[in-house]
Amino acid sequence: MEKDNSRNRMFCLKNVNYFNENKKFKNGDVYISSGHISKIKDAEKSTDEGYIPIDASGKYAQPGYINAHLHPSKELYMGLSLYDPISNVLDAVHKNNISESNESQYHASVSSLHKQILNGVTGVGIFTSRPSVDAEAALNIGIRANIQYAVNDTWVGKESIPVIQEQNDIIENFSRIYQKYTSELISVSPATASEISCSDNLLKLLNKLAKDHDSFFSMHINEGKHQSDQCFEYFNKSGLERLESLGILDSHVNLIHCCHINNEDVNIINRNPTANIIHCPISNSFVGAGTLPTYRIRNNIALGTDAAMVNPSNSINSDALFALYHHGDDGFDKKLSSENLIDMVTINGAKCLGMTKSGYIREGFSADILLYNNNDHLKFDESISDINKFIINMINKKPEHVFVQGKHLVDNFKLA
Ligand SMILES: [Zn+2]
Repeated sequence: MEKDNSRNRMFCLKNVNYFNENKKFKNGDVYISSGHISKIKDAEKSTDEGYIPIDASGKYAQPGYINAHLHPSKELYMGLSLYDPISNVLDAVHKNNISESNESQYHASVSSLHKQILNGVTGVGIFTSRPSVDAEAALNIGIRANIQYAVNDTWVGKESIPVIQEQNDIIENFSRIYQKYTSELISVSPATASEISCSDNLLKLLNKLAKDHDSFFSMHINEGKHQSDQCFEYFNKSGLERLESLGILDSHVNLIHCCHINNEDVNIINRNPTANIIHCPISNSFVGAGTLPTYRIRNNIALGTDAAMVNPSNSINSDALFALYHHGDDGFDKKLSSENLIDMVTINGAKCLGMTKSGYIREGFSADILLYNNNDHLKFDESISDINKFIINMINKKPEHVFVQGKHLVDNFKLA
C-alpha cells in the first residue's frame, strides 16, 4: 500500500466507509498522525497538508477486534483433542508446563499472535505464567497486549499442581515485569489461575496490586462444575462468594468464564455490576463447562478465545459467530443482540484490558483499524444494515489491511 511504515508517519484513509461509535458506516477521510486518529472529515478530493493520501474508496473500516483472553503459547497443543473435560486439560497443562522450554513457548506465541493479527485482532489479553516470553512475542509482532501475569500461592484441586510462589516473590516478580514491559503497546497486570489457586491473602494482594497500578486482576472462575465443587469443598464458598466477602468484586477484576453459575452466583454478579466478565463460549463448550447466561447479566462482557487446546479455531471471529448462535438455541429471548456482540469484540474488550484509546474509530483514539474490501463478487447489497455488514465482515472475511497504532501490520491479507 505504501512504503513508509513508521508509527510517526502522517497519512489519510481517503473516501473510506468507517464504522462510527453510533454503529453506522459513514463515508469520510480518516486522518492518522503519530499512531492516533487526528481528525475525521467528510470525504473530499484534496488532502490536508503533510498527510499522505491512501485511496480507500469502497472499503469498510472497522475498529480492530479485542481478544480479551488468550494463552498464545498453548498453540503447541492444538488438535490434541476436539473436546475434553476441564480436569484433563488442566492436568495436561500443568504437567507439560515444566517440559516446555521458553524457546518453544516463544515460537508458539509468535505463531498464535500472527494468526490473531491476520484475523483482525489488534488488542489481546494474554494470560501467562511466563510473562517475559509472551511480552517479547507481542513486541515482536507489534500487537497491543495486556500481559496478565498469573501467580498462585495455593492449589486445592485434584489435578497436577501449577507453579506456586511465596507472596514476597510474587510482589518482587510482578514489579520487575511491570517495570520492564510497560509501554505504549504493552501493559502488565496481575492474575491468578482460578478460585482454587489462591488463598484469601493472595486475592487481597492481587486486588491491591491492581488498585495501586490503576489496573485489574484476572482469574478463571466458575469454569464448570468440577472446578466450582473443588472450591466449595475447600473454602466452603463459591469463587464469587469468596470475592464478594473480601470486598474485591469491583471494577478491578476480570472474571474469565463464569459459565457454571447458579441463581445465587447470578445475584452476586448483579450486586457487583462494575466487575468485568470475559466470555469464552467455544472453550466453555469444548470442556463441557456450561454457558454464561449473558441475558441475565448487565456487567461489561468481553469476548475471548482462551487457548488452542480448548478451542481449535482459536479465532475471535469464530467465537463471535458461536456467541451469536449458541445463546438461545431453543428460543430468541436468550440471544445476544448484534449490537452487544459488536461491543463485546471492540469497546467492551478494550475497557476490560485497560486499552482506553481503543475500540472505536474516533478522533483522539489510537489508529487500530481494519480495512475490508467490498469487491464485486462479495459486494454488499445496499439494503443490508450497517450492523449486519460489520458482523458479516467479521465472521466471513479476512481484513485486507490491519493497522495497530498507525503501523501497517497486515498489507493485502499478508503480514507486512
Ligand atoms: Zn484461559
